[in-house]
Amino acid sequence: MDLATMKISESKPYAVELEYSDEYLELEEQHFGLCLACGEESTSCEPDASNYTCEVCGAKKVYGTANLLMMNRFIFP
Ligand SMILES: [Zn+2]
Repeated sequence: MDLATMKISESKPYAVELEYSDEYLELEEQHFGLCLACGEESTSCEPDASNYTCEVCGAKKVYGTANLLMMNRFIFP
């Protein structure tokens, strides 16, 4: 799956709209991460990553999938 097709929701900044439930698992395998300060996506996050530094905005607000899930940042279909 191409990360470029990901939908970052603007109604709930920032959350990821999943097209299907298993997409979450795929993102986990891809070490997906999301900056909650600017919405930038990363592909170098372990699932339990937290407070990683964002390469774009510099904020220490990049989280891995497990933490994003706990923070209710995935919108399941
Ligand atoms: Zn950022």
